[in-house]
Amino acid sequence: MSSSLVTVAYIAAIMLFIMSLGGLSHPETARRGNFYGMLGMAIAVLATVFGPSVTPAGIAWIIGAMVVGGGIGLYAARTVQMTQMPELVALMHSLVGLAACAVGFASYIDPASSAQFTSVEKTIHHVEVYIGILIGAVTFSGSIIAFLKLSGKIGGKPLLLPARHWLNLVALLVVIGVGAQFLGAKTIDAGMMPLLIMTVIALLFGIHMVMAIGGADMPVVVSMLNSYSGWAAAATGFMLSNDLLIVVGALVGSSGAILSYIMCQAMNRNFISVIAGGFGSGGGAPAAGGAAAEPQGEVSAVSAQETAELLREAKSVIIVPGYGMAVAQAQHTVYEITKTLREKNINIRFGIHPVAGRMPGHMNVLLAEAKVPYDIVLEMDEINDDFPDTDVVMVIGANDIVNPAAQEDPTSPIAGMPVLEVWKAKTSIVMKRSMASGYAGVDNPLFYKDNNRMLFGDAKKMLDEVLTALRA
Ligand code: NDP
Repeated sequence: MSSSLVTVAYIAAIMLFIMSLGGLSHPETARRGNFYGMLGMAIAVLATVFGPSVTPAGIAWIIGAMVVGGGIGLYAARTVQMTQMPELVALMHSLVGLAACAVGFASYIDPASSAQFTSVEKTIHHVEVYIGILIGAVTFSGSIIAFLKLSGKIGGKPLLLPARHWLNLVALLVVIGVGAQFLGAKTIDAGMMPLLIMTVIALLFGIHMVMAIGGADMPVVVSMLNSYSGWAAAATGFMLSNDLLIVVGALVGSSGAILSYIMCQAMNRNFISVIAGGFGSGGGAPAAGGAAAEPQGEVSAVSAQETAELLREAKSVIIVPGYGMAVAQAQHTVYEITKTLREKNINIRFGIHPVAGRMPGHMNVLLAEAKVPYDIVLEMDEINDDFPDTDVVMVIGANDIVNPAAQEDPTSPIAGMPVLEVWKAKTSIVMKRSMASGYAGVDNPLFYKDNNRMLFGDAKKMLDEVLTALRA
């Protein structure tokens, strides 16, 4: 393939990636968006592999790597549970960071990569290598910690080292100092030590940064690492002089940054203070190992039969899904209940909190999978004013996103976070297995309100019983 044909293919791939992002912005066009993305990626890979920068001998290596990598990816995609998706995404981000580091070291060591450069171009190339490895290493170690936190392998409680801001500042100064040493190095051997020192500092910084972030701030971290992985890919593009990687990396980096901003707004948090860490320090662990909340009063339990009766008598119902719906895989039963209630002319809608579940858009994906019509799935801001006029709210495996303490208790670790005001409905029914707290590890006063009922049990099992009772 000639280099001009490769350029044409790259432009087509870039256009497809932009169309893909446009498509992914709405559930109705998301499937098409995915298709554009896949097509763009196929064109990009083929044009690169058969382009002038790969020798015939190299093609065999690439195909071997693609078989191994593709095999692992296929296995992961087929076996991963829907609830493990956020962890898988975090792990994938870490690979982008690792790749940026590997490419950085390789293109520094390989004299052929900069043989044709003038001395100014060489310096620019070395700056690219240095920054690329820096971003890659932070993305790699930060994503690994995010993976461990999301999978519940380590607690969600923030690790706050004494004088941590000073530690970060010193690390930054050292990185700048060794960076100057790196750029001034006369030989590759002389530059290797400063490069390795910076890599170790960047790895430690990534660990420290994500460890310091509390459970409730994890949505921002997930989207922030998404953004970093884009910048790491863009940096790799600069190192390899590959325009497509630069553009695609910038698209991912900037869309991740916009998502981080949206998540911060959804949680009423300042981006800088999220990065500074410490929020959500109420002592929580992820729900997987969720600590039991301190009881604050009496709760009223209901049965599935009583829940069905409350639903049958209601004129308007709002369903609020959360992480527990994903765990129980209850979305299909939720849809069956929705259909049954709609046949009875009951106005039923869904209220979606922006950080419900464990990844942005988690609930929308599940409801779309179950074929719930998009027009009855509303964002928090669209539905929050409607709760006082609602007869029954069914909270399915959600906890933090419906916690009134965010509004009522200024000392709460989630104080100020916008929540779905389900307690304003005539009756709210919370479906969960126990009194355990949610991801942020915060007690929930909603459970003890007079107009609240608790339906204890696995969400799928209880909803099956509710559906049977509704159909009886
Ligand atoms: P929460 O984690 O607050 O609560 C989920 C609840 O589901 C738990 O209290 C649990 O209670 C219940 N549950 C678990 N399994 C089941 C089951 N099988 N059947 C019924 N109930 C079940 O989830 P929310 O969606 O309300 O809030 C999301 C939280 O996750 C927020 O704190 C957010 O900041 C955080 N987060 C969000 C991310 C995102 O991008 N969206 C990323 C990372 C974190 P019990 O054990 O008693 O059943």
